[in-house]
Amino acid sequence: MDKLVQGIDRVYIHKSSLNSSVVERFFRLFPREKIETIEDQPNTKSRGALSAREFDQSKRQVLITEFQGQFFKQCPGFKPGLICCNYFVLNLGLQCNMNCSYCYLQSYINSPYMTIYSNIDAAISQMRELAEKYPDKAFRVGTGETIDSLSLDPLTLYSRHLISFFNEFPKWTLELKTKSDHVDQFLDVNPAGNTVVSWSINPQNIITHEEHGTASLEERLSAARKCRDKGYQVGFHIDPMIWHPGWKKNYSDLVNEVAKRFRPNEVAHISLGALRFVAEQKDIMRERFGMKSFVTNAEMFPSKDGKLRYDGKLRADMFDTLLTLFREDSPEWKVLLCMETPETWIARLDTNPRHVREIREFFQPLPRS
Ligand code: SF4
Repeated sequence: MDKLVQGIDRVYIHKSSLNSSVVERFFRLFPREKIETIEDQPNTKSRGALSAREFDQSKRQVLITEFQGQFFKQCPGFKPGLICCNYFVLNLGLQCNMNCSYCYLQSYINSPYMTIYSNIDAAISQMRELAEKYPDKAFRVGTGETIDSLSLDPLTLYSRHLISFFNEFPKWTLELKTKSDHVDQFLDVNPAGNTVVSWSINPQNIITHEEHGTASLEERLSAARKCRDKGYQVGFHIDPMIWHPGWKKNYSDLVNEVAKRFRPNEVAHISLGALRFVAEQKDIMRERFGMKSFVTNAEMFPSKDGKLRYDGKLRADMFDTLLTLFREDSPEWKVLLCMETPETWIARLDTNPRHVREIREFFQPLPRS
């Protein structure tokens, strides 16, 4: 907790959030001189992208405010040209206190703060409305799109609210996705079996080189084991796979490490994704991480959805290598390709995922609210 508090220089609290539980908690955890109450909502609409320095600073300043819009959004993978495992994202904040070289938040954040939305009650009400409107639907909801699901959770305790809500709706699934090892704050909440805590993982050399300020591989896998032992489902995203000299050996060691610690029936899913980013973030990445990063100096090509990706052969080699390793260990591992084109899906899994019985339900269209 001390490390989290020390990593934040300033906390701005909008007056509309003063009575929220999260603000009450920040007042308890932070020295008074770090906290400032503000009257006006900062206007970020008219400003352009942040400079590299402002982006770095935004990771050390928190703004707590109410979110005024619709909390729910369909997953960004739901786009022409991509096959996506069709779920909803619930954004409870914007920006992250960790620092990955490839982070897509670099492409669009224009606010000089790490924003935490204080009105989680409104998010829960919106989910309740949806649950009542579609009682037979099995919604899947993830919270890790614009903020890591758990890295700030010891400060907000939002996981506890969400897990308790999802316990009321056993058909729904909650996915908490993280690169931190912050799980102790919710492990005493009994899960109904429909919360999946998932980790984005990479070989340790890639974590050290590209995923600054995140938990080590050992810490992530140990946290996953703790969750599993408490009855939570766990998942892994080997994503983004990053090419580097020796990548086959390092990713093979990673698969072995997962297989050594978990059996396939203990892991809800493993998704694979290769490095991708939008061209707009190239400059800021280079300015922030230089050219020694395996991400900034990668050779990338535009794909149909507008993102830059490795060329098709390398992606195919990466997916084949990992799929083969998992299949050789056991055909029971549930491995998916995330945010990939239909061509890659069909070539690598020999079929369109909508036709795979075990995972078909992930791809059923959900009603638009
Ligand atoms: S953990 Fe996720 S959100 Fe945070 S910096 Fe890394 S990629 Fe970005």
